[in-house]
Amino acid sequence: MTIEVWGWPLLLGVLGLVFGSFIATLAIRWPQERSVSQGRSECDSCGKALTARELVPVLSYVLQRGRCRGCGAVIRPSHLVTELLGMVIGVGAGLVAPGLEGAAGAVFGWLLLALAALDLAAFWLPNLLTGTLALAGFAVGLLTDFPPGLNDRLLGWALGFGGLWLVATLYRAVRKRHGLGGGDPKMLGAIGLWLGWNMLPIVLLVACLTGLAVVAALLLAGRRVDAATRLPFGVLLAIGGFAVWLVIATTPSYPAGTVITLVSVSQ
Ligand SMILES: [Zn+2]
Repeated sequence: MTIEVWGWPLLLGVLGLVFGSFIATLAIRWPQERSVSQGRSECDSCGKALTARELVPVLSYVLQRGRCRGCGAVIRPSHLVTELLGMVIGVGAGLVAPGLEGAAGAVFGWLLLALAALDLAAFWLPNLLTGTLALAGFAVGLLTDFPPGLNDRLLGWALGFGGLWLVATLYRAVRKRHGLGGGDPKMLGAIGLWLGWNMLPIVLLVACLTGLAVVAALLLAGRRVDAATRLPFGVLLAIGGFAVWLVIATTPSYPAGTVITLVSVSQ
């Protein structure tokens, strides 16, 4: 294996660890309206400023056995999981599409990871993040020839946002209850700007199947699940969105080839 083959997955993997660490901090502090970018990194329990050694993703967690060296408070395992997911996204994107297309895919994955982390932590999809995801998808369509084409992307934004907004509005009118958060249509619109309109049904299918699997797992674990149980839909959309990107990036003849591949795999 040469450096050309392993260079991109390695680079994106290391970047993924760093971004994953940042995203984990973001998911804890942003809902509390605490600054992420200003001030030093500190322990979330005792406020002890972290040294450079304590900021190394994964390694510092393992060396400190998941505890703060100042107060001994348990560092949330979700921090480690988010760092590892950031790495997996980077390595995966670099493997399926070496070069700038893989780097763009990794950015897509990391933004989805940030949205999923915030939705899981606080049922919140900030406009700043869904907006950044949308603008980045538009920019990739405008500046590169990575599939899909710009028209497919813009139609994806309109149908993704419009379709889910309509579903949410109808549900609210019929059931007198919020079924979807206000950020969900914006997020699906942004995903449409990355994947194109014709991939959106598959994104929703993967999201719903993942949701059903989660519900099944909750039931098997003896947890009560009813109509009022809230699943963070943004997490499911993130999983569906990145899974479909991976398939698109590995399929040479997008989009017809992708659809045929998915159909033949499912039969
Ligand atoms: Zn501490």
